[in-house]
Amino acid sequence: MPAFPQQFTSTISHWQASNRGRGSLWNHGRHDPLPTEVVDYVIIGAGVTGASLAYQITRAGGAADGKSVVVLDAKDVASCASGRNGGHIAPRSWELFGPLTTPLEEGGAGLSEEDALDILYFEAEHLEVTADIIRKEKLDVDLWTGQRLEVFTTDEGVRRNRELMAQFFAAKAKSAKHRHKRVDWELVADTAEAQRLTRLPAAKELIRGPAGSWHPHRGTTGLLRLALASTSSYCRFFSWAPVARLEQLDSGGWALHCGERGVVRAREVVLATNAYTRHLFPEDMARGEGIPAHIIPYRHQACHITPPDSYAGDGALTNSYSVERGPYLIQTPAGGMILGPFSATVIDVFGSKRDMYPIEDDSGTTGKFRNWMAGYCPQNFAGWGAEKDGEGVDRVWSGILCHSVDLVPLVGRVLDKPGLWASISYNGHGMAKIVNITRCLAENMRTGVWDDRLPRCFEITHARLERAKKCKPFLDEVKDAEKAKL
Ligand SMILES: Cc1cc2nc3c(=O)[nH]c(=O)nc-3n(C[C@H](O)[C@H](O)[C@H](O)COP(=O)(O)OP(=O)(O)OC[C@H]3O[C@@H](n4cnc5c(N)ncnc54)[C@H](O)[C@@H]3O)c2cc1C
Repeated sequence: MPAFPQQFTSTISHWQASNRGRGSLWNHGRHDPLPTEVVDYVIIGAGVTGASLAYQITRAGGAADGKSVVVLDAKDVASCASGRNGGHIAPRSWELFGPLTTPLEEGGAGLSEEDALDILYFEAEHLEVTADIIRKEKLDVDLWTGQRLEVFTTDEGVRRNRELMAQFFAAKAKSAKHRHKRVDWELVADTAEAQRLTRLPAAKELIRGPAGSWHPHRGTTGLLRLALASTSSYCRFFSWAPVARLEQLDSGGWALHCGERGVVRAREVVLATNAYTRHLFPEDMARGEGIPAHIIPYRHQACHITPPDSYAGDGALTNSYSVERGPYLIQTPAGGMILGPFSATVIDVFGSKRDMYPIEDDSGTTGKFRNWMAGYCPQNFAGWGAEKDGEGVDRVWSGILCHSVDLVPLVGRVLDKPGLWASISYNGHGMAKIVNITRCLAENMRTGVWDDRLPRCFEITHARLERAKKCKPFLDEVKDAEKAKL
């Protein structure tokens, strides 16, 4: 069954609520006829992936130089995860060695340490690439760059951090490719100093390293606007144009069936459809094979907080945060904070993946998450104090993400489907990868050759999909855990 039109009405995020004026691309092309001529490239999805890829391929000399590009979205620009996230561009620390190098059979990605290093340095580079584009294009997106505090609040968290730090440094020393690279992460082992820096009395130890944040709805819109303004490509965007079915044409290329809006024909198609991708492969989905078997949609919830005056002005937080058994958190330049629980926090605090997986509906929020988010700052930040009317949590929303069973994105040509490309499934961490991935994917589309700046483990291969069948059964594990609780 197609995912669109959706039978529910989505919640509205802080980002979507604060970018609605003229120029924001809401309803863009909604009532225009779809193209009748064959288009060179169609990108399905106008989230950060689709917008950033459209921007990249429409640069002079890019894959679409002298060609036509159409971006289709089932709803509005950044209507899904890209307009509903934490806004946190948070390159990962050596912490990623844990899930990435754990064997598939034990719930990890089963990657080598060299793969993990590739991803760590790719994400570090992503922050620089994103900031460079924003500055070069003068995008008004509230870019902040600074440091993220990764805070450990349990003895087990402290121990695990030391273990992964040692694993990272040992792997780096062995790596011909990475051994000479800078390490931007620093350990603050002194508990009093960790508490002073974080203002969290529960902090035991922390590490700190580069991070950023932006207004993701304005960022996505800004990149798409630059694509639409390209003078070297002819780029158009049609919102509210859901692709219900993909048809591979015998004559070459693709027909995209968009219900009442008609059919768009394209030479090449890129899936930037993230959590909803599996609906475009209904047969594989029914058989539990291929890409649909490799990815799972899941739902997260986040909120906007107006801090009391104790955390305003000179008292405002100066870093972004990732707190063990707690939230990710950013301070926006205008003074509000965005906060939401990590998946690990949901499982640790609420005890079940079933609160997240496999959910595709972002129409509601849940009382227990709302209460947890509303209580987090008053209960954990020192001297937060009483919240006046209008302070504290003032907006809560949900959004749908995409999890791949081997924990890394799927990027590049779709297997056995000439002219079909994809960039999907970022495991809750797309803001720290997508701009860099799409920069490389655009180059791959231009040259036809894999761009070696991209971690090779992101590539969609038969071997990868086959290997991932060894993954610990994801939802069975949930069922077992739930049965054990009964
Ligand atoms: C609550 C929440 C908090 C998050 N916080 C962070 C964070 O702080 N840092 C971070 O790095 N990441 C975070 N993420 C994840 C991040 O938002 C995603 O990785 C990223 O936005 C994915 O971008 P995308 O463009 O690939 O997907 P999406 O933004 O989901 O876009 C996919 C688009 O495809 C369209 N589409 C799908 N199917 C079709 C179809 N058949 N026809 C037409 N259009 C279609 C959809 O309408 C949608 O607009 C968070 C996500 C959520 C929900």
